[in-house]
Amino acid sequence: RALPADPDTTNVPRQVVGAAFSWVDPTPVPAPRTVAVAQEVAAMLGVSPEAPDFAEVFAGNVRWPGMTGYAMTYGGHQFGHWAGQLGDGRAIGLGEVLTARHGRQELQLKGAGRTPYSRGADGRAVMRSSIREFLCSEAMHHLGVPTTRALALVATGEQVVRDVMYDGNPAPEPGAIVCRVAPSFLRFGSFELPSSRGDVALLRRLVDFTIATHYPEIATLPADEGYAAFFAEVCERTARLMAHWMRVGFVHGVMNTDNMSILGLTIDYGPYGWIDDFDPDWTPNTTDRTHRRYRFGQQPQVAYWNLQRLAQAVSPLFEDVAPLQAGLNRYVEVFQATDAAFSVAKLGLARPDDADEALVADLRGLLAAGGMDMTIFFRDLATLDLRAPHVAAVDAAFYDDAGRAAVAEPLQAWLQRYAMRVRDDESSTSERIALMHAANPRYVLRNYLAQQAIDRAEQGDDAGIHELLDTLRHPYDDQPGREHLAGKRPDWARERVGCSM
Ligand code: AMP
Ligand code: MG
Ligand code: MG
Repeated sequence: RALPADPDTTNVPRQVVGAAFSWVDPTPVPAPRTVAVAQEVAAMLGVSPEAPDFAEVFAGNVRWPGMTGYAMTYGGHQFGHWAGQLGDGRAIGLGEVLTARHGRQELQLKGAGRTPYSRGADGRAVMRSSIREFLCSEAMHHLGVPTTRALALVATGEQVVRDVMYDGNPAPEPGAIVCRVAPSFLRFGSFELPSSRGDVALLRRLVDFTIATHYPEIATLPADEGYAAFFAEVCERTARLMAHWMRVGFVHGVMNTDNMSILGLTIDYGPYGWIDDFDPDWTPNTTDRTHRRYRFGQQPQVAYWNLQRLAQAVSPLFEDVAPLQAGLNRYVEVFQATDAAFSVAKLGLARPDDADEALVADLRGLLAAGGMDMTIFFRDLATLDLRAPHVAAVDAAFYDDAGRAAVAEPLQAWLQRYAMRVRDDESSTSERIALMHAANPRYVLRNYLAQQAIDRAEQGDDAGIHELLDTLRHPYDDQPGREHLAGKRPDWARERVGCSM
């Protein structure tokens, strides 16, 4: 059993070798209180939120029979540089539930206290970042984007000191714990770490374990074929994930290789954000404002770079690099095909043709040049009168007159071209609108909406969290009475960005 390193006696991170995890118990908190529960996740796991000790269990104070705490070790490339050993510094696994319909699901408490991988930090999370993770992971799931999920958000009753300043000093903030749920939390970095140490035996065990546990269709292949199929599958899933992020306007913000799931899930919600106006250069991460490495439009390229790091990490299991290169090529093909398919669906075109690529590319240019709200544009495009197309149909997507003036003419021309293309498509109006409504959400977790829920929660009112959770369960439906959650970003929120810790 490995115990957390004592921060007073060492400031050298303890290296854990020859193992993929360490046993560690959550550190108890003074006053657990359940703030929110995702009912579908509770049902999937067969966990009752009414259980008298629910808050105690999901704050880490009490363990139900069969639960044992552990933290996983991993490394990673951060902002392009190898960072050595990282690991779960504040996330503690509790074990897996074998569900009736969704296979195995691992439970993990984020913010549950120090672990052997905390490296001098406190192992805690603040309420605002926990609200953001809880709401966004559920929102992503209901949008149809692969993601880790969240069972519960529990306030700890403890004050945590983070980066918010008050009179020049870091101000204590309420702490919270999110119980995250996923078939696996293994990351690219989980494989990079043993590989970086030349521990091929551990690397092989981990890859074999991952294939046997999470890729059963590959497990039956002979080993060398299996490794190639495994890498190709990770590439494909990552490609589809990137196409989804671009489809809904999600910007992860910290696409380090330790934040890339081996199952192609969105993982680690930190300083993420949603684009409002369509700006491929936007990043929510204030620490990345110079290089903008993790900007919206760059995400597919970054994922490819990260897959190259994974390829390098697993290369000791391959005799030659051809299957790894084939996997990377597969990434490009699958990303392009999926992105194209999503893009034509967003336009409501049931029968794609070759000319659609230019139609999509031209539209992206116009959305960017006009600074138009992506979510509102696509949703309102469904209302365009095809016999008399006019920019007025999408006017609500503009943030200002300058943007309106910059693209009024070319946008009018594009809409006419689009209307002709739709007529050629020969799908019925109801078919087209159904297709568009299924591809274009009305509700996404805009940064300012999360911030408003956080501000209310800090005043002791959790209703904003519940309202968002409930609305975002049906992001593609128009929800009467919830129009205030579908609006453009207000001016005051322009520079309010995601928070990291
Ligand atoms: P992230 O940027 O959130 O992906 O985290 C990078 C690394 O820092 C991971 O190994 C985290 O576990 C660790 N980490 C982040 N916040 C904390 C914290 N409050 N206490 C301990 N470790 C942390
Ligand atoms: Mg991380
Ligand atoms: Mg994080």
